[in-house]
Amino acid sequence: MKKKWADYIVEALEELGGSASYNEIYEKIAEIRRGNLTPQWKASVRQIIESHSSDSHNFRGIDLFYSVEGIGSGVWGLRNYVGHGIGETPKAQDINISNNTQILVYRILRDTKIARWVKSIYEHRCQICSYVITLPDGTGYAEAHHIKPLGNPHLGPDVKSNLLCLCPTHHAELDYGVIQINLSKLNIDKRHHIDDRYIAYHNRKIYKSRS
Ligand SMILES: [Zn+2]
Repeated sequence: MKKKWADYIVEALEELGGSASYNEIYEKIAEIRRGNLTPQWKASVRQIIESHSSDSHNFRGIDLFYSVEGIGSGVWGLRNYVGHGIGETPKAQDINISNNTQILVYRILRDTKIARWVKSIYEHRCQICSYVITLPDGTGYAEAHHIKPLGNPHLGPDVKSNLLCLCPTHHAELDYGVIQINLSKLNIDKRHHIDDRYIAYHNRKIYKSRS
């Protein structure tokens, strides 16, 4: 299948660690494509990024990229970037980005600053079941879950009040809508405000009762 601009941009951002400036993205794409570029290619890159970012006014529906420091900074991140190393369990899933192109996205497990924050205040203890996975080196392992998911069609925000610290089992159960969230039964640290609108969103739109 012929690669599209969006595929090159995703590949470039992955190689650049999940986020980068336009100039870094251009350089990386030039390297990946080995100079096989049209005269207008940088404009194409900008247009594709903006049309695939709900942060941009030119957004057209598939939310692949986010503006790292606000529109105008020219720094873009891959919304569903899954880095390398501990704390990430990529789960490939095909999405259509245009009539005849598919790219890979992943179940969202970005290890961002706020994801590290939520895991540290709970010391990797699951907010639902209190279980902590302890790795051989003695450190804890947990996953940060966005209650109202990032990306289409949910477009949840990447903010602390939309995050939970979970064990992998409860993370998967929430991602797949297996269970509801009962706010009164969660372990909640006093430094962590959880917005009950996101809980309501999960229980209404993500949770699927069994037929
Ligand atoms: Zn759990």
